[in-house]
Amino acid sequence: SDGDPSIPIERPKITFADVGGMDTLKDEIRMKIIHPLAHPELYKAYGKTIGGGILMYGPPGCGKTHLARATAGEIKAGFVSVGINDVLDMWIGNSERNLHEIFDRARRSRPCVLFFDEVDALAASRTDMRHSGGRHQINQFLAEMDGVAASNDGLLILAATNAPWHVDPAFRRPGRFDRILFIPPPDATARAGILQLLLTGKPVQDIDHDQIAKKTDGFSGADLKAVVDMAIESKLREAMRDGIPKPMTTRDLTSAAAQVRPSTREW
Ligand code: ATP
Repeated sequence: SDGDPSIPIERPKITFADVGGMDTLKDEIRMKIIHPLAHPELYKAYGKTIGGGILMYGPPGCGKTHLARATAGEIKAGFVSVGINDVLDMWIGNSERNLHEIFDRARRSRPCVLFFDEVDALAASRTDMRHSGGRHQINQFLAEMDGVAASNDGLLILAATNAPWHVDPAFRRPGRFDRILFIPPPDATARAGILQLLLTGKPVQDIDHDQIAKKTDGFSGADLKAVVDMAIESKLREAMRDGIPKPMTTRDLTSAAAQVRPSTREW
C-alpha cells in the first residue's frame, strides 16, 4: 500500500521447515541475520559486528531463491526479489525504477529480506563488463549496501549467483557480501526431504523416499520438481484412460526420474 506498486513486497508463507536439507546453511543464516535482529545487545557484548549480506552460489535449481524466501517467512519479514530483468531494465533505462528506489522500498517494509537473483548481472567484475551496467552502477550498489550496513536496521540482504567468479571483489568486503555460502546439489538425505515436501498433500501410496533419492543422484530440487510433475501427468493420463484415479507409487516416481536428466552433473 505504501510507495511504488511496481516493486511488490511478498509476505512468504514458507519457512525453513519447507526447505529440505541445508541444515548448516540454515544455521549460518540464523547466526548471521536472524539472531542479530532478535538479540542485538548480545552480539554487541561479544563485539560481533552485525550486518552485511550473504552471497549464495551454486548450480541452478538447488534452492537459493527458495532458501531466501523461506528466510523471510521464518522471521515474518517482507520479501523483495530483484531479478535479472529488473536489473537489465534499469541499465537500459526501460524502467523508472532504480536501485535506490528498490532499497528504499525494502527499507520502508522492514523487517525485510532484499534478494538479488543472478547478482553477477549487477556485480560483474570491472574487467568483465559484458553483462554489467558498468562502474557507475556497481558503485551505486555498493553505496546502498554500505548505507544498510551502517544503519543495521532490519534490512537483510541476500544474493545468488551461478558464477561467483564474475562477482567483483569489492562486493566481498566486510559489511558487504562478507559471507559466501555454497549451496550444493542436494545429497540423498536432502533429496528424500525435498521429495517429501513436494509430495505433501498429493495422492500417494507407500512412497519410499530413500529409494527414489538413491536413484536421483545429481538431481537438483528443480529436477525433482520436474520428476514429480511428470509422474503426476502420467497418473492423470491413466486416470482419464481407466476412469479411476490411483495414487502415485515409488515406481511411478522412479520411472519418471529415469526420463529426467540430472542437471547438476556438469556444474
Ligand atoms: P536458479 O539459480 O535457477 O535461480 P535456485 O538455486 O534459486 O535456482 P530455486 O528456484 O530456489 O533454485 O529452486 C527451484 C525449485 O526447486 C524451488 O521452487 C523448489 O520448489 C525446489 N527446491 C529446490 N531446493 C529445494 C529444497 N532444498 N527444499 C525444497 N524445495 C526445493
